[in-house]
Amino acid sequence: MESVSACSKLNKTLRQHYLSLPQGGKCQVTYIWIDGSGEGLRSKTRTLDTEPQSLAAIPEWNFDGSSTDQSKGSNSDMYLVPVRMFRDPFILDPNKLVLCEVLKYNREPAETNHRISCNQVMEATKEHCVWFGMEQEYCLLGMEGHPYRWPKGGFPRGQGPYYCAVGADNVFGRDIVECHYKACLYAGVKICGTNAEVMPSQWEFQVGPCEGVAMADHLWVARFILHRVCEDFGLLVTMDPKPMTGNWNGSGCHTNISTKQMREEGGLKYIEQAIEKLSRRHQEHIHVYDQHGGEDNKRRLTGHHETADIHSFSSGVANRGASVRIPRQVGKDGCGYFEDRRPAANCDPYRVTEAIVRTCILDAEAGDIN
Ligand code: ADP
Ligand code: MN
Ligand code: MN
Ligand code: MN
Repeated sequence: MESVSACSKLNKTLRQHYLSLPQGGKCQVTYIWIDGSGEGLRSKTRTLDTEPQSLAAIPEWNFDGSSTDQSKGSNSDMYLVPVRMFRDPFILDPNKLVLCEVLKYNREPAETNHRISCNQVMEATKEHCVWFGMEQEYCLLGMEGHPYRWPKGGFPRGQGPYYCAVGADNVFGRDIVECHYKACLYAGVKICGTNAEVMPSQWEFQVGPCEGVAMADHLWVARFILHRVCEDFGLLVTMDPKPMTGNWNGSGCHTNISTKQMREEGGLKYIEQAIEKLSRRHQEHIHVYDQHGGEDNKRRLTGHHETADIHSFSSGVANRGASVRIPRQVGKDGCGYFEDRRPAANCDPYRVTEAIVRTCILDAEAGDIN
């Protein structure tokens, strides 16, 4: 199989002719949702007669849940409830991307809809003004499933020169990263940075700071845009927490948190209190920090490659080998935020942010109570 997809090599000049046709005042709205795997994203598009000025102008819709592992064929209609609207960076204004929640036929949340409970917890703790920032690491793959531009069936030179690198021998796939960044900015996704990672073809982007449930909404749409950009270039992206075994870094989704109290003078005291609470619920958090109850993170959180061992909790200022790190500047300033380094690249950010707020603010179980 070729490393780059055939579709990515179709005539793009021809495509541009059609994409620049006027669209008669109509608006194309692409509904995006999380499928039954809890990890995969799906989307479909409809025409609205006018450009929606707000979320309220975008109607609910439905889809066939039996084709996304979300329902049985005999009762397959699922509801799509719009929750956040973005500009469409692919087919441009006035068209929209809209992130949706999925409800079952009886309007109960679908199994993988963790947004409802996340939102409830964020609403209940609103007065704390909780901000998050998440660092999404990922790896680019060729169509054959091997990291992009790694020698066929083999390995590149060992880790060392690749992190934040420049130069054709050390940087694999920067086009994707630059296009994704611009597309997120156009869309209105709160992306705040990007860097090349330690493993060749591995990258990171950061989203934040975002308050409450907006964190996960923005990260999911940033992920959708990344998959879509990769599709244009004919490559794949994997959020697997340890795409290559051996002496290669895994992919995490470090989660940075602060409350109003932590950001104000003397806030370090509240940061330390929150970390102490996290230390007492380590296993509960590990359970919700990847897609398989901690199984995925077992391969990544080994105590090597800038990770802490999955079985124990640790914390420290500027310590990238700890479960939780207080950035050096925050230690110096005596206020700011802290970083939970445990969430895996394939985590559901609704579950991660909810668990952190439950533990640190509500003193409740990290996982779903029901
Ligand atoms: P690292 O040094 O761990 O690689 P990055 O620069 O990659 O850090 O990411 C820092 C993250 O912290 C960003 O997502 C940013 O939005 C987030 N962040 C910055 N300030 C705050 C804050 N006060 N509260 C929560 N998150 C924050
Ligand atoms: Mn980072
Ligand atoms: Mn990183
Ligand atoms: Mn980090």
